[in-house]
Amino acid sequence: MTDLTNLSLEDQIEGLSLKRFSSVELTNSYLKKIEKQNKVLNCFISINENALDEAKKSDLKIAKNDKGIMEGIPVAHKDIFCIKDQVTTCGSKMLENFVSPYSSTVYEKLFNSGTINLGKTNMDEFAMGSSNETSFFGNVLNPIDPERVPGGSSGGSASAVAAKLCSFATGTDTGGSIRQPAAFCGITGIKPTYGRVSRWGMIAFASSLDQGGIFARSALDASIALESISGFDEKDSTSINKKAPSFYNEAKRDDDNHVVGIPKNIIENIKDAKVKTNFYESVKILEKAGVSFKEIDLSNIEYSLPVYYVIAPAECSANLSRYDGVRFGYRCENPKDLEDLYERSRAEGFGDEVKKRILIGTYCLSAGYYDAYYIKAQKIRNLIKESFVNAFKDVSSIMMPTCANVSFKLNSIQNPVEMYEQDIYTIPANLAGLPAISIPSGKINDLPLGIQFIGNYLNEGNILNLSNKFQQNTNFHNE
Ligand code: GLN
Repeated sequence: MTDLTNLSLEDQIEGLSLKRFSSVELTNSYLKKIEKQNKVLNCFISINENALDEAKKSDLKIAKNDKGIMEGIPVAHKDIFCIKDQVTTCGSKMLENFVSPYSSTVYEKLFNSGTINLGKTNMDEFAMGSSNETSFFGNVLNPIDPERVPGGSSGGSASAVAAKLCSFATGTDTGGSIRQPAAFCGITGIKPTYGRVSRWGMIAFASSLDQGGIFARSALDASIALESISGFDEKDSTSINKKAPSFYNEAKRDDDNHVVGIPKNIIENIKDAKVKTNFYESVKILEKAGVSFKEIDLSNIEYSLPVYYVIAPAECSANLSRYDGVRFGYRCENPKDLEDLYERSRAEGFGDEVKKRILIGTYCLSAGYYDAYYIKAQKIRNLIKESFVNAFKDVSSIMMPTCANVSFKLNSIQNPVEMYEQDIYTIPANLAGLPAISIPSGKINDLPLGIQFIGNYLNEGNILNLSNKFQQNTNFHNE
């Protein structure tokens, strides 16, 4: 029999519904592969012991023709999405034994679509990082080259999809955590418009930036999965009250009206000549497919990184204050008094990167510095958003590289600023709340490289369509 894990999500849906194979068979193929490869890659923190039972139930539903749109499809969830009665760690010792009393909307929607949960994927602690090296549960390796990182913070999900250990996976992107690992692992990753996907039950890092999304092997696969997790949720006050269109239909339809903006000020400053060459080669491929391009100017975009590293830590310092050793999460042993309990629970439960961010955040928010840092960062954030809004008067999407480099070796980046620069091209879309996708665009020394399309608000369909066009004219996503 053919290896079912090689099939695309589209083909798996078809195969299951035509009963060419069962969900139990499909789920089993993945579980066997996970058992072997997870020892090396470490992309899963926990495996769902009920996966085969869930698959059996799906097979019954398929037999009765009472099925969800992805009935029987095995997926992996970033361990930031709560699942009722299951452990959700967020990559931290703080939540090592935390059993969630309720499920995230993303999980629930995928469950209702019929998917089988294979397990929870490894991630940087509280989603803070770009290499998966800050996880309490150890590094994740990149299946393309196991000496290198998969990117972060959703490195486990990216590694699992690239190694074909699940059909697709969920992730979150606060500053680039879906797109950067997708680029490093040679897969497709999409972060929708802020508010498109509910944040309910998704453990908070920086609430005005956090957004759930999808890792998959192609834009078409991603469009199917994204459609399932999108939509209004009254439990999330920032959820957008608009029905999501069929992203799959939008991705597939003939669209000859693409006008893609090239932000001159960014592209001219790409340091690595190979990254720049790859960018222009990708432009050529799309031009041949009938896409037009236009140079644009995105002013103030160069401040994105410093603005992000004020706003994200500020919000994280507030969000993470709930981990006090009292209500839930890690509690230190034999506290002397209440203060000791707070102090030691947090000192022992959080890792270094998280502590650093909390310190930066509380500093930026403290009386006397609030105006100088936090308020100023918010003002510049607005200017950045305005430059995007202006740009979208002339173009339908914007193209840039996903990252300035390919995946790097484990422990090779020690300088924190160098690590933060990983997200130099991805952060602007988060600050503005825009949808953005990364797709594979070639290789440098056998390591994958990604290009990124940023779309206008709620126009995920446009960038999925453009990505699909690119993938129909290239084979990078299948390599
Ligand atoms: N790498 C960025 C950070 O460390 C982004 C993380 C993310 O998107 N979750 O904050």
